[in-house]
Amino acid sequence: MKKLLLSAACALAVGVATFAAVSPAQAQKKFIAIGTGGPTGVYFVVGNSICRMIHKEAAEGRKTGRKHGIRCSAPSTGGSTYNIGQISEGELDFGVAQSDWQYHAVNGSKPDKVKPYDKLRALFSVHPEPFHIIVGADSGISGWGDLAGKRVNIGNPGSGQRGTMEVLMEAHSTGTGDFAQATELTSTEQSKALCDGKIDAYGYTVGVPNAGVAVATDGCSAKIINLASDVEKGLVDQFPYYAFATIPAGTYKTTDADVTTFGVMATFVTSADQDEEVVYELVRAVFENIDDFRSLHPAFANLDPAKMIKDGLSAPLHPGAERYYKEQGWM
Ligand code: GLU
Repeated sequence: MKKLLLSAACALAVGVATFAAVSPAQAQKKFIAIGTGGPTGVYFVVGNSICRMIHKEAAEGRKTGRKHGIRCSAPSTGGSTYNIGQISEGELDFGVAQSDWQYHAVNGSKPDKVKPYDKLRALFSVHPEPFHIIVGADSGISGWGDLAGKRVNIGNPGSGQRGTMEVLMEAHSTGTGDFAQATELTSTEQSKALCDGKIDAYGYTVGVPNAGVAVATDGCSAKIINLASDVEKGLVDQFPYYAFATIPAGTYKTTDADVTTFGVMATFVTSADQDEEVVYELVRAVFENIDDFRSLHPAFANLDPAKMIKDGLSAPLHPGAERYYKEQGWM
């Protein structure tokens, strides 16, 4: 059975490469913008950690003369499908996106949910993202069927969870009309709304653990329910970008047993039009500093370069990324 590994420590030692023969990019100053997600999610940390590694390499380069000239910012955004749309329009240079929406964008297979963009290119995947249904302590919800008649946040348009929630709703033959109310709150608003009793449940695709979910679980005893019926099994069997995932007991105050659900991978993408040197310098900055990168968020602890350059990627690799992976002997 396909499985997303959240907890097994399987870090691969990354050799420190020497770069005597590499001619550094003679790039002039180049500003790049990375699309992330809500400020309490993990994408925001992904984008800002990548910028941090790029700026770290820039500081090293000022000492050694290996200059890349890249300056980076990673603002908070609406999430996966927003990021892909903005990359296609040249408004963002890079973005974090769920592996399901990467697949549908490059294949043009869900044009109602993500803009078809065959020039989408992959760099690497990051952490696994289980799909969570988080329910209020007194909501009486313990499975998907109990959501009927409840106030449910389906996520803001542009977020990955909004699209994945809609796919799951279709698979369960649940329409928004089956809920008492379907709200479109952002990832930052939803936990507070749950704790304030304004909604009964919300859907969220996100890395484990994270601050936003903790606001609800640790703050007002919200629970994460299992999603492991034949419906989810059907999705995992049918689609390459879904796999089962376990949110381990003890992750949050209310996770007293393992939670089984399905999920996707967070991936890092750009456009085929993106400059090859910039992509090369970005992946180099991340992988030369992978130990530092892993320490920047608990969801990154088990990142393994051998898996990152392959798992969850359905768009072709950008040539700048491929060049670095080949130099490392990883491909
Ligand atoms: N998976 C979410 C999305 O695609 C974002 C999760 C996060 O911000 O970490 O919108």
